[in-house]
Amino acid sequence: MTGRDAPWPLLDLDVAQIRAAGREPQSFRQFILKIHSRCNLSCSYCYIYEMSDQGWRQQPVNMSWSTVSTIAYCIAEHVRTHDLYGVEIILHGGEPLLAGVARITELVELFRAEIPDNEMSFSVQTNGTLLDRSMLEMLKELGIRVGISLDGDAEATGRHRHNARGASSFDDVASGLELINSPEFREIYSGILCTIDVRNDPVATYEALLKFTPPTIDFLLPHANWAHPPPGAGYADWLIAVFDRWYSAPEQETSVRMFREMIQLILGGRGSADGLGLQPSTLIVVDTDGSIKQLDSLNSAYPLAASTGLDVFNNSFDDALEHPTTVARQIGEDALSDQCRACPVMQICGGGLYPHRYRSGIGFRNPSVYCADLLRLIFHVRARVTKDVNDLNTAQPRPLGGCPEQRPGPRGVLPSMSARTGRARRRAVAPPLRGSPQPPRPWTGWPLPSRYTDDRRPMRSGNWSRFPGPSRWPRPGCRRTLGLPHS
Ligand code: SF4
Repeated sequence: MTGRDAPWPLLDLDVAQIRAAGREPQSFRQFILKIHSRCNLSCSYCYIYEMSDQGWRQQPVNMSWSTVSTIAYCIAEHVRTHDLYGVEIILHGGEPLLAGVARITELVELFRAEIPDNEMSFSVQTNGTLLDRSMLEMLKELGIRVGISLDGDAEATGRHRHNARGASSFDDVASGLELINSPEFREIYSGILCTIDVRNDPVATYEALLKFTPPTIDFLLPHANWAHPPPGAGYADWLIAVFDRWYSAPEQETSVRMFREMIQLILGGRGSADGLGLQPSTLIVVDTDGSIKQLDSLNSAYPLAASTGLDVFNNSFDDALEHPTTVARQIGEDALSDQCRACPVMQICGGGLYPHRYRSGIGFRNPSVYCADLLRLIFHVRARVTKDVNDLNTAQPRPLGGCPEQRPGPRGVLPSMSARTGRARRRAVAPPLRGSPQPPRPWTGWPLPSRYTDDRRPMRSGNWSRFPGPSRWPRPGCRRTLGLPHS
């Protein structure tokens, strides 16, 4: 990684000045561990194996036990130093399930023994081809939630996601999805990750994913930047078609992370994921050899862009907090280009996903290469949500059931609201209606976390399931949730 490739932030960002101005680092809360460096698929858009950065060839295939225990020590140190609650360990690769049942079990047990009790959670992001019964039993036993990558129906998935022989992975993934979607394993099913290809019909793609009743769908724009433009055009139209299909459905069929976050930000809430909003990123990666890195997707800008030069044997995670690439992702508006800072939707867009801002010779202080698409999509979503909220504002006030500051009324019903006026609120505050049962522990996908994240102790003292007290917190369905006065 050199400053020549990215003067901003590597050369031009003055970390000492930022700290002197009172900008404190935000401790890491999500740790991505690349526990296996190889994959049993070779997807054509993969930013690890199919792009110019071939650094994976030098990585050990598996994380050694000395690396695993050193990482556990470093995370425990970070948790204790910053008095953290609710850190998330995300098992990644390559294909993390290639590590096997025994290895994953030992790794999770070691982490649970080493790291203080802090409501730590585990998840895995997998290509889904290895999800057989024994694997799912182990994941369920260990409480590891599972996200699966799939690009739509057989044709859409077959465009990019194939094995080394060139055969589509769809059938293997579909059987894994059917198994995890069964009542026996549904509780560890967290959702589907879908990379957009504009050649696929948007609504058909969304409906193909819905057949697997995912709790959440996450649509990803293909990794691109000003030096390597996107592989197609019309991403706004594609996403608007999916949004309208999702938003207009008579009942909420699933949660779509991008739209949920957008609505939350439009309503004045705070974002909770990379790619939208101005909240600091608190995510860090540890590679198979123990090196501390930024997200692999940064390597789509130029080789080794994700490297920090740090590792768990010689550095702490606090050292990584002071690295310019971390600081750049934690200073919100100050990391944006002048064009973004003057943009009317800056608070919602946040300049787009960090890797998508790269331009050769300048670095990452540019609008997203998807700027025009993001602008159109946000204007569209905002227009629909604003109309619904305005309708809600002018609706005849009626008592709201279950709200602590209202007199008792029928529970769970907003009788004065039409289906349309209720839609924005439901999309923002409700978990998916379809699919059951809900996960047994606090659902980390709550779309209105701001009151908790501001508290810096999310999920500890209360959440929408464990209500901490009527005097301070509004319930879902309360008009205060939308920042509206009680009437
Ligand atoms: S829409 Fe474009 S200019 Fe506006 S914040 Fe996003 S990337 Fe920047």
